[in-house]
Amino acid sequence: MHILHGAYQAAIGGMGLDEAERLAALRNYQVLDTVAELSFDRITRAAADVCGAPMALISLVDEHRLWFKSNIGVALKKTIRSNSFCAQAIRQDGLLIVPDASADPRFADNPLLMQPSGVRFYAGAPLITPGGHRIGTLCVLDRKARANGLNAMQSGVMQTLSAQVVAELELGRTAARIAWLMRHDTLTELPNRLMCQERLTQALAAATSRSNAYHVGVVSLDLDHFKRVNDVFGHDAGDALLQRVAAILAGFIRPGETAARLGGDEFILILPDCHTNTALQHRMDDLLERLRQPYLFDGNVLDGRASIGIATFPRHCRDAGGLLKKAATAMYRAKSAGRDSVSIYRHDFGADFERRVGALNAVHIALRRGDIFPYYQPQFSLRTGEIVGCEALLRLRDSAGKVHPPKEIEDAFEDRDLGIGIGAIMLTHIVRDIRGWLAAGINYGHVSINASAVELRRVDYAESLFKTLAQGGISPSRVHVELTESVFFGHGYEKIEATIRALSAGGIKIALDDFGTGFATLVHLKKFPIDIIKIDRSFIENLQTNSFDVAIVTAVIKLANNLGMQIIAEGVETAAQAEILRSIGCDIVQGYYFARAMTAEKYAATCQLGTTASMERLTTAEFQLGAAFANAH
Ligand code: C2E
Ligand code: CA
Ligand code: CA
Repeated sequence: MHILHGAYQAAIGGMGLDEAERLAALRNYQVLDTVAELSFDRITRAAADVCGAPMALISLVDEHRLWFKSNIGVALKKTIRSNSFCAQAIRQDGLLIVPDASADPRFADNPLLMQPSGVRFYAGAPLITPGGHRIGTLCVLDRKARANGLNAMQSGVMQTLSAQVVAELELGRTAARIAWLMRHDTLTELPNRLMCQERLTQALAAATSRSNAYHVGVVSLDLDHFKRVNDVFGHDAGDALLQRVAAILAGFIRPGETAARLGGDEFILILPDCHTNTALQHRMDDLLERLRQPYLFDGNVLDGRASIGIATFPRHCRDAGGLLKKAATAMYRAKSAGRDSVSIYRHDFGADFERRVGALNAVHIALRRGDIFPYYQPQFSLRTGEIVGCEALLRLRDSAGKVHPPKEIEDAFEDRDLGIGIGAIMLTHIVRDIRGWLAAGINYGHVSINASAVELRRVDYAESLFKTLAQGGISPSRVHVELTESVFFGHGYEKIEATIRALSAGGIKIALDDFGTGFATLVHLKKFPIDIIKIDRSFIENLQTNSFDVAIVTAVIKLANNLGMQIIAEGVETAAQAEILRSIGCDIVQGYYFARAMTAEKYAATCQLGTTASMERLTTAEFQLGAAFANAH
């Protein structure tokens, strides 16, 4: 407390606390150095008339000067503060009356006294704000001394009029506040959509009237994980993140540029003087870097990363609305290119959209023709060397008969109709394949099925899955459903949570896919019935070179074990990775080192004899690496 007070004192340079607050109250009205206004002049006129005085002032007492909002009979707009009548008058609550200044030592150096026909009489009523600060006076002056000062009626009117001055100031502030509110976002205090449009229109008009070398850049910025921040950490955290992003943007722009918030987590920058795309790209890279810095709020790290799209005048569009749209299109492009990046508008972005629609169309046709089916990628136990099950992965056969992984049709998984269609076709195939394995007496372990958010959001997903399995005579305990953590934070997650609980209650194990790439921690996920954590390939990739990744994976395995969850390491490509995983207590692995995804027939064959083959492979790896490891440690 004392330290704070001391710091504050130092900051205001020894000025008393009261005086600092008084000045703050005065500046808050934003009236200093504004033009004369009739409403104030009427008050000074009335004061002069009632008091029969030739001069009247509304005098505001600034740090070192008096500034007159209204001056009747006085040519000056301001004067110095020291030794002034008004500086004296604001020391008291009532009227200050000086019958004859020439006889009063307090005003010996008063500049008004020095005027050719100097002031002799002064009567000033302090202007007292609702907060109790005396910010100036309403005063009347005369060149003649007045032994009787003011009569009771005149004194009363002076006090009433001084209150009227404050009322006008308050009114002015309220009007200014309303004008501000109409053009700003209250949470971040940035300009809002209306002001953004005004500024952009102005910038385009200015650019049009100048040489062609000037471009106006419109930048659309959208946070990548805002919804999750809100959902996981609450709205206070979401608000704090928006304020922090706003502060970064406000600090980033240069004079003449605008940073605005359109609503939600959508921001716009208007850059009226941008020359080249390269320079713009560099600036935006710098901005992304600033947004990437982790932000600590209430003990949580909030993710402020964003996707940025740019459109420029006149190259991409000439009108404000079109530019905003094109910047947004570019921003969506940055999102689909993996987020946390910058994309500059190109005219073929429209064509790209058509390509996407084309891909969805291809899925339509493939669905109809039955060209979508699963491959199965085995999962192994490092402890026993045995196949414990497999993951069903979608494959697409093109018209030439070539089989493709699902990369090109990824969008289709999250398309409402296609996603559900794909899931249904995959399940039909999977049930048929399992029945085949059962009939042949193959010990296939479990089959893990990938489910998309659109499927999980369906209220009957769990019920229809149980029904299909029952019809095929397949036990739910032999089926896993894989989902990514994003389904918990997207829209309709209440429905998804219900689906997951129903699946779990019916004996299906839930696997959390791609763990580590998202945002949630295991502690957050504890409330969902998750049985298996699949550690993402990106962590496995660098196990040999990155001891940090080893530490993370080790910690995840420990924590998962404590929470009663199983671990599967994905994307194991080398014997060395397998060995490290084994040494840190990971049992189940999946990856190219052991086996790629394969047809149902090949999987059956692998289960029959593959156990021995993979055992051999493991043993060799163990043999080679066990020694290497022993030497290294
Ligand atoms: P995912 O669920 O993470 O599946 C694992 C992906 O990693 C598969 O790619 C698999 O072939 C690949 N992979 C496995 N081991 C290795 C390895 O050692 N190294 C490398 N580099 N890659 C490995 P795939 O089959 O292309 O599938 C891609 C994604 O498509 C899947 O990622 C999954 O998100 C989605 N997907 C696949 N099938 C389905 C499906 O039936 N339904 C839904 N909703 N999504 C599916
Ligand atoms: Ca998966
Ligand atoms: Ca995965």
